[in-house]
Amino acid sequence: MHTQLLINGQLLDGEGPSHDVLNPSLGTTLVSIKEASAAQVDAAVRAADHAFDAWSQTAPKDRSGLLLKLADAIEAHAEELARLESDNCGKPYSAALNDEIPAIADVFRFFAGASRCLNGSAAGEYLPGHTSMIRRDPVGVIASIAPWNYPLMMVAWKIAPALAAGNTVVLKPSEQTPLTALRLAQLANGIFPAGVLNIVFGKGPSVGAPLVSHPKVRMVSLTGSIATGSNIISSTADSVKRMHMELGGKAPVIIFDDADIDAAVDGIRTFGFYNAGQDCTAACRIYAQSGIYEKFVEKLGAAVSTIKYGLQNDPETELGPLITAQHRDRVAGFVERAIAQPHIRLVTGGKAVPGDGFFFEPTVLADAQQDDEIVRREVFGPVVSVTRFDDEAQVLEWANDSDYGLASSLWTADVGRAHRVSARLQYGCTWVNTHFMLVSEMPHGGQKLSGYGKDMSMYGLEDYTCIRHVMFKH
Ligand code: NAD
Repeated sequence: MHTQLLINGQLLDGEGPSHDVLNPSLGTTLVSIKEASAAQVDAAVRAADHAFDAWSQTAPKDRSGLLLKLADAIEAHAEELARLESDNCGKPYSAALNDEIPAIADVFRFFAGASRCLNGSAAGEYLPGHTSMIRRDPVGVIASIAPWNYPLMMVAWKIAPALAAGNTVVLKPSEQTPLTALRLAQLANGIFPAGVLNIVFGKGPSVGAPLVSHPKVRMVSLTGSIATGSNIISSTADSVKRMHMELGGKAPVIIFDDADIDAAVDGIRTFGFYNAGQDCTAACRIYAQSGIYEKFVEKLGAAVSTIKYGLQNDPETELGPLITAQHRDRVAGFVERAIAQPHIRLVTGGKAVPGDGFFFEPTVLADAQQDDEIVRREVFGPVVSVTRFDDEAQVLEWANDSDYGLASSLWTADVGRAHRVSARLQYGCTWVNTHFMLVSEMPHGGQKLSGYGKDMSMYGLEDYTCIRHVMFKH
């Protein structure tokens, strides 16, 4: 197992305290890794700063070629990376291998191509005797901070656009799930010049905080919780760094009376419980219209009760454990408080699974009301709530009545309604008659407390550039 950090083209052991990295399916320790010392964080940022000048002037086609090489290396090591990811997260091996790794390689390939298409929006004479042009130039050193739910995917979303645009990067994966990022450090080290990509390991307060506040870091890109995002924004406010924030979510899923109920049930069975519901876009806050409400709840409960949880290597496993015992207890707390309310009905699931792994039963809670905690707060586990609504105006108000603004979906056979409602939902993404589908060409990112900035797409690439005006006097 690879446990070394990548700093200035060298693979090094951390010089800070050790932390255990767990297998959440069994509750056992996979490996113990030493985190970066303060001096190593500083060295990584200085290496990135030193490498910036040359890397930012590399021709896009050359940067593109190196990103393509990394995509090839990821594919060549697909099984090893998928194994590390599934052991460290408990997610089914087949999902890591067949869903995540191809999507990760595709992100690098998309940004390899996109780096060659970046352009300014205008060049012309806007003042007599002068020519203006718009340039999009890289920002500098980017501190990239990743979460634990899709460890290597989040690394790809962060480093591919940043490097493609000509920035250099110091990345910190989650202290809970660093294994694929540290293996990637080895693969990337043979590909990129020293200092262009640096990867450090450690906890948020001891390694993340000094990294994001380092004076040579020009931009911070975080995918994580709202609390961490606001902590980073406030603690670095004095240095006015650029911020790219992909934070939490609580996706509304609106099922109208005319929807294909079986398709909606099937969609929620998949997209409410994928990755054990530890997904910022999870289809978790369901609103079902009165005419189909009872039938829908019954069908959803029956479908969800068939989801098979188990060990990551069992080909039948659909649902893995939660990431830590602490997170499982947090999810259990949400469910206990919900079912203690007399109006909430437990349809299926509802309990932690006894044993050493951190499993929680796939759970459906019906008859939830708009102001219930289970409807308002991100649970980040295999738990969905269902709320009854009567008409379009009411459900639009409830769907938008949320601090979050990342993802949403609506299910209907009425094309006019699909256009009308999707135009008014205050979410970075709205899916119609599906949920969760992501492609490298389309932007992913939030509004409101879900953050700002886009991952993937040309918008993601542009986020890692500065717009500059250059004017020539004739
Ligand atoms: P987290 O905020 O606890 O940790 C995220 C990362 O931030 C970790 O690497 C952590 O070490 C680091 N960190 C913590 N404190 C820090 C500090 N003071 N300075 C610098 N770094 C610090 O989040 P998590 O529990 O790992 O991930 C789950 C959260 O991520 C959920 O809220 C989920 O919704 C969100 N998420 C959002 C998206 C999205 O695209 N919007 C995608 C995935 C996950």
